Amino acid sequence: MRFAIIGAGMSGILASIKLSEAGHDDQVLYEKADRLGGTWRENTYPGIACDVPSHLYSYSFAPNPGWSHQFSPGDEIEGYFERVADDYGVTPRIRFGEEVTRTEWRDGRWHLETGAGRTDAADVVIAATGVLHHPRMPDIAGLDTFAGPCFHSARWDHDVDLAGKRVGVIGTGSTAVQIISAIVDEVGHLDVFQRTPPWIFPVQNTAYGEDELAAFREHPERLTQLHDTLAELFSGFAAAVTEADSVQNQSIATACVANLENSVADPELRERLRPDYQPACKRLIMSGDYYEAIQKPNAEVVTEGIESVVPEGVRTKDGELHELDVLICATGFKADSFMRPMDIVGRGGVTLAEAWDPRPNAYLSISIPDFPNLFMLNGPNGPVGNFSLIEVAELQMAYSMGLIDELAAGRGTEICATQAAMDAHEEARVAEMGHTIWVTGCSSWYLDDRGIPATWPWPFEDFRAAMAAPDLAAYDLR
Ligand code: NAP
Repeated sequence: MRFAIIGAGMSGILASIKLSEAGHDDQVLYEKADRLGGTWRENTYPGIACDVPSHLYSYSFAPNPGWSHQFSPGDEIEGYFERVADDYGVTPRIRFGEEVTRTEWRDGRWHLETGAGRTDAADVVIAATGVLHHPRMPDIAGLDTFAGPCFHSARWDHDVDLAGKRVGVIGTGSTAVQIISAIVDEVGHLDVFQRTPPWIFPVQNTAYGEDELAAFREHPERLTQLHDTLAELFSGFAAAVTEADSVQNQSIATACVANLENSVADPELRERLRPDYQPACKRLIMSGDYYEAIQKPNAEVVTEGIESVVPEGVRTKDGELHELDVLICATGFKADSFMRPMDIVGRGGVTLAEAWDPRPNAYLSISIPDFPNLFMLNGPNGPVGNFSLIEVAELQMAYSMGLIDELAAGRGTEICATQAAMDAHEEARVAEMGHTIWVTGCSSWYLDDRGIPATWPWPFEDFRAAMAAPDLAAYDLR
């Protein structure tokens, strides 16, 4: 069988490694960019780090004794993926600069076309295209009239020198918080345009000392233990978000409230920073230095709504003009794109646009009826809000291998979930959402067009159990 993997980020590299381990060496990875690394290639803003501990945000089979910090910076993470891709022989399989623009199921195979004009045919396609990769610029009047540099956090312009400048950051999500803490000491003045205050869970990001790094190198088994311990801890977090009333959630809330009370001196500012929704309803933000950053003399939190952007800066609804030299939009992503805008045509000519109208769905986030032999990693409605996406992808890939095994064993040539299985799963998923934290009264990118979280509502152990092996009764194998 021939395999096409779309995307050479964390999930695509993983897919390639796991296929090779199973003896499937006829594979190619299509990567639109000129380097691998997915989100860690695209996001290069100052302060970027992963707020999942590094020893958990690593492949289970490739622990890294060299992580510099508990939460290591983005370039180190990108370097890790490059190293793993080299070590496991993935890199030579990647076709860089080739964006798959179309793939069509015809005569029992996927026929792919790339923007570079290449065509290819594969028996199986693994869509490893990521979740948050289409930047969302804010819909603010006059944004394009701004006279200075204006860019999205995921399109950071490294030619722009921020030193001494008047800089505005729109947004106070996970990305903005990292940027703000990183640039506040460099810029002349910083305006933080906050539409909704975030809850901040306090974490310190300590660097590993030489002794600890040496111990990790000398006792690799400790890395596996650490990975497993962290995975357990994060299972606790998953339990918290899927049960709004849980004890774990109450502890998260207590820590966030205490952080606000103890870190913000000015009572007036403290109230403007106090969210009116429960912690973890929006994606919980981890930071040990955000409150400190925004209380610096050169920083100002602007809570008045934005009226418009003008050439000189941002005008707020009270008529005030906040003059700026640089405007940064840390305004998030279109979270429901997944494989789009790729043109995907399944069995019987059904398009992905039709199948995903009005919203994306896949059985267990992996398989779409009438799109045979197409498996998604970190697809729609998975556990994006509560866990390390690496472990999620590893479990999904192991599950997908179970489906691929059916094909490899010759028990059929095409396999995809049945409509009935997907519908039943979706019904159960939606029914379960009522007691999750995401529906307790906030807006966030987790919510779909109906206001239903596009996430996994059950404890993580249930996800592990669901991924243990495919239930073939849910599949149409021909
Ligand atoms: P985000 O969480 O969607 O936050 C976007 C921010 O921009 C919000 O504060 C939002 O305000 C604001 N905003 C959007 N449009 C606006 C407008 N028109 N006017 C004013 N404000 C506007 O995006 P993100 O911070 O890039 O994070 C996205 C996700 O990426 C995170 O939730 C997380 O999953 C992931 N991430 C992870 C890490 C990590 O360390 N692992 C780091 C960064 C990002 P409202 O709240 O009012 O909508």
